[in-house]
Amino acid sequence: MDARPPQRHRTAHPSAPFSIWAVVLVGTVCGCGDPPPGCVDAGASTSEHGARVNATPKVGPLTLTALAAPPAPEPDRIVARFVPSREEPLWTNVSGRCELAALPPDAHGVVPKGSEGLYLHGSMEKSFEIPGPIDSTTFNQVVANVWIQSKSRMRMLLVRDGAPFQGSGQIDVSSSSLPQRIVGDFALTRFHKRPIDAIQFKVGAHAGPVCIESVELLWKDVRSWFPLPGSPPELLGVEGEERMASVVSDEIGVGERFLCPENGTLAFSCTLPENLRFPGQAPTLVVTVRSASYSSETRIRLESDLRRPARWLDEEVPLEAWGGEWVDLSFELKVKGPHEAFALLETPRIVTPADQPPTVLLITSDTHRADHIGIAGANPLVRTPNINALAKGGILFEHCYSTSNITIPSHVAILTGRHPRDTRIVDNVTSLARSASTLAEAFGANGYRTFAAVSTHHLGDALSGLGQGFDRMAAPRANERSAHATRELAERWLLDSQREPVFLWLHFFDAHYPYEAPAPFDAELREDIADTQEMMDYEQERYRGEVSYLDTELGPLLRVKRIREGIIALTSDHGECLGQHSIFFEHAELYTDTLHVPLILSWPGCPPAVRVSERVQNSDLGRTLLDLAGLEREAFPGRSLVAGKRSPEPNFAISYAGHSASVTFDRWHLILHLQTHSAGNGDYSPTRQRHETELYDIGEDHGCEVNLIDSETAVGGRLRSLLLGWLSGAEETDLATDSDISDDALEALRGIGYAGLKTERSGEWAELDCDCEWCGKFE
Ligand SMILES: [Zn+2]
Ligand SMILES: [Zn+2]
Repeated sequence: MDARPPQRHRTAHPSAPFSIWAVVLVGTVCGCGDPPPGCVDAGASTSEHGARVNATPKVGPLTLTALAAPPAPEPDRIVARFVPSREEPLWTNVSGRCELAALPPDAHGVVPKGSEGLYLHGSMEKSFEIPGPIDSTTFNQVVANVWIQSKSRMRMLLVRDGAPFQGSGQIDVSSSSLPQRIVGDFALTRFHKRPIDAIQFKVGAHAGPVCIESVELLWKDVRSWFPLPGSPPELLGVEGEERMASVVSDEIGVGERFLCPENGTLAFSCTLPENLRFPGQAPTLVVTVRSASYSSETRIRLESDLRRPARWLDEEVPLEAWGGEWVDLSFELKVKGPHEAFALLETPRIVTPADQPPTVLLITSDTHRADHIGIAGANPLVRTPNINALAKGGILFEHCYSTSNITIPSHVAILTGRHPRDTRIVDNVTSLARSASTLAEAFGANGYRTFAAVSTHHLGDALSGLGQGFDRMAAPRANERSAHATRELAERWLLDSQREPVFLWLHFFDAHYPYEAPAPFDAELREDIADTQEMMDYEQERYRGEVSYLDTELGPLLRVKRIREGIIALTSDHGECLGQHSIFFEHAELYTDTLHVPLILSWPGCPPAVRVSERVQNSDLGRTLLDLAGLEREAFPGRSLVAGKRSPEPNFAISYAGHSASVTFDRWHLILHLQTHSAGNGDYSPTRQRHETELYDIGEDHGCEVNLIDSETAVGGRLRSLLLGWLSGAEETDLATDSDISDDALEALRGIGYAGLKTERSGEWAELDCDCEWCGKFE
């Protein structure tokens, strides 16, 4: 037995209900202290005595491999198949007119021979059901072969005792010429002992006619629900929180052999999502660290109670006892009973003591106007003491502009350093291609842990593509998550990575419409609003309430020691029109209301209370943060905002769907409308004509109230040429890709103010060959 004392285990969260409950020391084991072939760093060599020298101890993420070859999942098994027939009307139509008829013709106009489907007609939500009884323990997936006229959403519900008790969630269904497979997962049906009464299907409005060809009940091998053990990590998760993780099963463990550093700690997290649980299994993750001389085992109980929500457990195992030795690390899952079990394991890391690992925090407060930080001094009613304090300790950029008035395009610009002109991402239904190089990837490549918590659904990785490069990404299912919830998540992540460099992007959605701040930040309800001015005053008060609420939530976060002592940037993706230009509470058009955003920077040793009056653009923020973190050599577009005095440069912006473009230079702001469109979503919204041009002297008229295009035509002509020249210089980047979004999901986006039309991604931004009245003006 080794003479070393047992290591006491520390957990990151002593209060966690399920943490490590036993540390077992085992005697000396087999000689596995030598590095495996091919596992030694390039610099390693063999000494006379055969001992390996010069190998580099492992620090950072581990590459886990499966300890045995994982068996391929068994193929899906069809348990039951239902087809509509004239002899036996199997299906009960719950709503809408229905009939049995031939399937719709395919893309070539050919009607499939002999095939029939049940057609549901009508423009409202439609539903039908398959009557039971059905033994629910026999299937875990429902597949409907469905044709719909236009993209929509579908839900599948299990009904018992007259009411749905379990649902598939909303499934996006696209339109196509042939029936397609719509899959609903029912992982938990295996727990239901009583048969179900019916399976109900609901198809959203906007679908047009719907044709159901068949419905199948399938049994799908649990091993196929997630990547097999040993597969490369990907963003996997529990409700609302994804982490770069892989899978460990009770059959196949995972592990790695590595040279242990002195004073190292193994850090990782694990969880068991609800749909992988089986009551009574008492799943335990066994972590074994073993060297030639010394071995220990750590056991972690995972949650198996279906009534408790799944969440990640953050764990640590000290490795001091193995300093300088080759060790074999393994993760194995033990369960009771005959059923197989699976757990998600976030990529484990070896961390070593660090006094002050760097912290970089990027805050984007969605829809936050520049004049809505108190210290800007523009509006005495705005109260943001915590943001003011941040600015007093750092640099306030008084004239920061965004590149777009839309959430995803503007965030893509901040996180890639590329302008929407070049990314061609100018709406909220286009996502960033995986080929992009992102700020998170740049920090990750330099040893940072990279975390993102966004507070609206459509900024999540699935729709925006902005999860790439992040080790963790949390997006709500709903349109909005409160600043409080997002802050708590961030603070938990920081606790769990105290000895590692962290790049953290926090996105808050509070200032976005609807303005419904919690008490005491809410405005007193008013039902006596008499006119437009009163309505504007009231909504502006409510908007300020959201900003003050957000500020209050930022307070505790900005006081966290490592944040306070780290690099902090606060900005917004765009502002908001609060009734100006007849645009009410949305961020339409390219006026200063929507483009002028807050920007505050603070870092260790930065000069306090500095105000920068030069105009800058927040797409330079990524470059700036890398430079401030000492990563000047990391390739990334842009120019540091703190690299000394800048010569005045024009700032350009492109609006939603490429409807308009703008240039801001010197004291002038010019807007050129590229397409005829409505300035806002309301029926009262004014229309802008193609090639209509607006010019404002924002030195005198910051709010763009007086259009000077007729009196300052020469200035307008010069800026218009500058803008057109810039537009024609667009780069081909291939960074825009379709996000998979249904018409109903688009409808949800419309509900929060996005018109949701997909934008053409090729061709010129502006067509110059034109003889319209507007173009004639500048000949
Ligand atoms: Zn936004
Ligand atoms: Zn024209």
